[in-house]
Amino acid sequence: MIGLISATAAGAAARDRLAAAWPDRTRVYEGPVADAVRTAFAQCEQLVCFLATGAVVRLVAPLLSGKTEDPGVVCVDEGGRFAVSLLGGHAGGANELAREVGDLLGAEPVVTTATDAVDLAGLDTLGLPVEGDVAGVSRALLDGEAVALRSEVAWPLPPLPVTDQGSYTIRVTDRLVEAAEREVVLRPPTLVVGVGASRGAPVEEVLGLVEEALREAGLSVASVAELATVDAKAEEPGIVEAAGRLGVPLVTYSAEELAGVDVPNPSDAPLAAVGTPSVAEAAALIGGGELLVPKRKSAASPAMATCAVVRRPGRGRLAVVGLGPGARDLLTPRAQAELRRASVLVGLDQYVDQIRDLLRPGTRILESGLGAEEERARTAVEEARKGQAVALIGSGDAGVYAMASPALAEASDDIDVVGVPGVTAALAAGAILGAPLGHDHVSISLSDLHTPWEVIERRVRAAGEADIVVTFYNPRSRGRDWQLPKALGILAEHRTPQTPVGVVRNASRPDESSRLTTLGSLDPATVDMMTVVTVGNTATRDIAGRMVTPRGYRWQSAQEGSE
Ligand code: SAH
Repeated sequence: MIGLISATAAGAAARDRLAAAWPDRTRVYEGPVADAVRTAFAQCEQLVCFLATGAVVRLVAPLLSGKTEDPGVVCVDEGGRFAVSLLGGHAGGANELAREVGDLLGAEPVVTTATDAVDLAGLDTLGLPVEGDVAGVSRALLDGEAVALRSEVAWPLPPLPVTDQGSYTIRVTDRLVEAAEREVVLRPPTLVVGVGASRGAPVEEVLGLVEEALREAGLSVASVAELATVDAKAEEPGIVEAAGRLGVPLVTYSAEELAGVDVPNPSDAPLAAVGTPSVAEAAALIGGGELLVPKRKSAASPAMATCAVVRRPGRGRLAVVGLGPGARDLLTPRAQAELRRASVLVGLDQYVDQIRDLLRPGTRILESGLGAEEERARTAVEEARKGQAVALIGSGDAGVYAMASPALAEASDDIDVVGVPGVTAALAAGAILGAPLGHDHVSISLSDLHTPWEVIERRVRAAGEADIVVTFYNPRSRGRDWQLPKALGILAEHRTPQTPVGVVRNASRPDESSRLTTLGSLDPATVDMMTVVTVGNTATRDIAGRMVTPRGYRWQSAQEGSE
């Protein structure tokens, strides 16, 4: 919950805008400001104060207890010009909140935490539990000192400017080790603990068993990702409460699913009770991985709980990111976030150039020249399978005549795949031309590199017969010049020479150009590989120099305003 406190009319107006935008996340604290800040500080995870920073510093100073307990505090000035992350920048989420508030109110976010100011991922914001010398290692990263990354388990971390050797270390492990001096230990959620329990098993017995099993195996409880059991035990209080106290989800599987898992220690008791010869081992192993702790029972007599621990392979992450047609403001915020999330970037060199300035320090860039598509796709998937966070980029939308399909054709289900849509060339061109895509439309690539010409021709013919607006991608290159006239000729069998045709070159790039011409007078020589060509249907018109395809086939009724 975000507590909102204001003192003046201007502050209250800004406060109300936040409250209206985030009704479920915010609570307004009215009344005398000092009391309101104190109450909100005690009750909320975050505060936004429409007050001077000095006033807020004085009010919260006596209430501070520590970085991990204090709420994040953001101050917004009277003029609504700045959203200042005052307290709890990382742990309290105030930096992120300052950005969100800034977005909403049109205020400039002010963030002074060092790692954010120089654009490094803060070690305490990686979404993983972190132990050890966070301040020291962060400072070393900022100062450009050598920090070594020692990954004992694969995990898709965001980019960090690390080296192989260094006097500081970041250690990624689920093993029970103390952070050394000048070291931080990151705890990836790699461990799945399968649990079984008889009815009424006390939480102390379940939890005690889990903790003991981990400790004896030399594993850290901070790396437990989830508890897993059989459906029949989904409501078993001891298990539910154990998961709650560990702060992890409880995942359950049907007895049939569990019975199908190969386990080293099946037994008759669970088979009789819940219909599977193994609960703990099967539930831990069902997602694959290495069995580190085979089934063991609690020490109580009779033993009411069992558990088993599996380390699952770290899942890499492949983001397939469309960069849009070129202009920076047509690159979506989600695409930007994914570019900054990836520690490995794979793409065509000219596309990498388009976004190089957005990448975080430490991003490994694997760029290659034209062609080499299959190889890029394979590289991206290989890196993800090593457990990396990879972004594979493409212009426009990465799924349109681009990298998404070759990449996903290679990918197996052992990686996570995230797709980020981009503004494809047909849409970028459409917006420049007017409204050419107002009714049914198709895209057809005229490149016969991957597709036999007969297939392309059949599709062009079908689009012609069906009176569909057509956008041609890859319309013409130096070595491929007869295809476009041929395709236009096929469409001309069904459309008059006056049919509008839009030609857009380098849409949204610095040397953008566009022309509205007709099927009868288009000169193919003006078209190249930087261009898309959009041919209207029989209802498309040139209206005031703009290409407009009516939403209905009866232009008359469209003009009368029928929706
Ligand atoms: N994935 C891309 C398309 C790749 S195919 C997308 O979604 O846009 C390459 C073809 O796309 C080019 O030959 C050209 O026809 C078209 N194209 C890509 N970007 C363009 C732009 N900015 N302006 C005009 N055409 C473009």
